[in-house]
Amino acid sequence: MHLYRSALLRFADDGSALYDEDGLLATAPDERGVQRVVAAGPWQALAARHAGQPVTHWPGRLIAPGFVDLHIHFPQTDVIGSPADGLLPWLETYTFPHESRFADPAYAAGVARFFLDELARNGVTTALAFATSHPGSVDALMAEARARRLRLIGGKVLQDRHSPDGVRDQTEQSLIDTEALIHRWHGVDRLGYAITPRFAPTSTPAQLAGAGEIAARHPGVWIQSHVAENVDEIRWARELFPASRSYLGVYGDCGLLRERAIYAHCIHLDDADRALMRETGAAAAVSPTSNLFLGSGFFDYAAAERAGMAYGLASDVGGGTSFSPFRTMLAAYYVGREGQTRPGLSLAPEHLWWQHTAGAAQALGLQGVVGNLQPGCEADFVVLNPRATPLLARRTQAAQNLAELLFAMIVLGDDRTVERTVIA
Ligand SMILES: [Zn+2]
Repeated sequence: MHLYRSALLRFADDGSALYDEDGLLATAPDERGVQRVVAAGPWQALAARHAGQPVTHWPGRLIAPGFVDLHIHFPQTDVIGSPADGLLPWLETYTFPHESRFADPAYAAGVARFFLDELARNGVTTALAFATSHPGSVDALMAEARARRLRLIGGKVLQDRHSPDGVRDQTEQSLIDTEALIHRWHGVDRLGYAITPRFAPTSTPAQLAGAGEIAARHPGVWIQSHVAENVDEIRWARELFPASRSYLGVYGDCGLLRERAIYAHCIHLDDADRALMRETGAAAAVSPTSNLFLGSGFFDYAAAERAGMAYGLASDVGGGTSFSPFRTMLAAYYVGREGQTRPGLSLAPEHLWWQHTAGAAQALGLQGVVGNLQPGCEADFVVLNPRATPLLARRTQAAQNLAELLFAMIVLGDDRTVERTVIA
């Protein structure tokens, strides 16, 4: 058993934050050797039960759940910060040419190592990641994640049309490859597989239908794609699939909306789309730094809440501009505040944090597994230093309550705030 003593943040089932200024976290290995939380709460109340155990004491630090990134492209690590006139030119000019390099397994393995190092440095312990259309890019990512004992989910991109040579795949073969990768990686140690159509315009109806059939055969496997990010993209999708009620409806018509299906962006949905998200159990990966960078628009938090659809936060690197969950949470705050097209909201700091931890885990169907530090959870966590920089120290010292402490870290924090990332 491991005992840790520090300030401790976790979440109740209703999403409210639980905070112990002097907290105890106890972990012990399960039958597979994965460390799980066996106790979490106030030191005073729990310490006597664990008397005699050695204690790791981190005074002045905050133990918090490892962050969960609901949408990220591992091959776009080197595309981050590429300027373009919006989404479609950005794909053509930077992203597709770069992703073609992942045909080389050695290149893919090198980027996978850097990518996972960068997630860890930023306190991200679970990610739902796109690879490229090359099956070897999935093997590279999964092998490296397995060696690090990560709970990571990823998949081979499906894109059999409107894509240049080097990234375009073949309909039949892409589906065979997807199923082979599910058998190779899904459920191996902590890994999971996600069926990954890039977005409707780059897949033929046959490829999307095939993906939907695979999703039906493997209900425990995830689905990830993009929807309703940008108005030009939406127009294009509507032209290509005129029979569907909406862009989101294309995925529904192909059997690609269900629990464990995560759709990046979901900016320009209507209320019928949002109801479809709720009814099917699909969830949105809100990607605010990407949406601000590419000028795509603002996720409508109030409408999502009204509809009861699930959502969580994502970096969307490389359209997104940072691996840091602090940058993403701050950008989500900006997106909520936007008040020109609708009444602006001030998203509470605890709610921003929940969206990137327990809320994101819930969107994945992994509540009680990751993204939280309640008893039974796998013990992926971060040790944060609220005094990591002079300004952060000054500001957090003046915090009067949990909301002020968390908001100071959201606004001023970055990778320097993450002192340690512990994998279960
Ligand atoms: Zn994306």
